Amino acid sequence: MSKGHAKHQERHHGLSQFGKDLIRRCGSKCELCEAHGVKLTVYEVPPIAADPNYDQCIMICDICSSQLDNPKTIDPSYWRFLASIMWSDLAPVKIISVALLKHLEATEDWAAELREQVYIQQEEQDWLDQIDLFG
Ligand SMILES: [Zn+2]
Repeated sequence: MSKGHAKHQERHHGLSQFGKDLIRRCGSKCELCEAHGVKLTVYEVPPIAADPNYDQCIMICDICSSQLDNPKTIDPSYWRFLASIMWSDLAPVKIISVALLKHLEATEDWAAELREQVYIQQEEQDWLDQIDLFG
């Protein structure tokens, strides 16, 4: 078994430990677009730590996850729901929302307007500074 493979297994195991808590938290809805009754997978909000961190993980649907995984497929109008979830009390949801708005505002005025409205605390700003979503 390669070292990389072993590492992957470890991470997988780490995620499963709090997977149940995540499932309970999300109430079987995508924590971004709030789609119901769809398959949800764990997404780790960057920067990816050596050990998976519950407070950086969100449960999201395939549509959200595929767009986050491949910026070329991002459909700006799909992400209009950021207008409500950027106010989330859940740090990883708020952070990924603002990071996405930051990416979208290059072409979308509505995204720039939303990002001006959202209040970012210093510790949230420190987290955001470490995120380069699509590098
Ligand atoms: Zn979704």
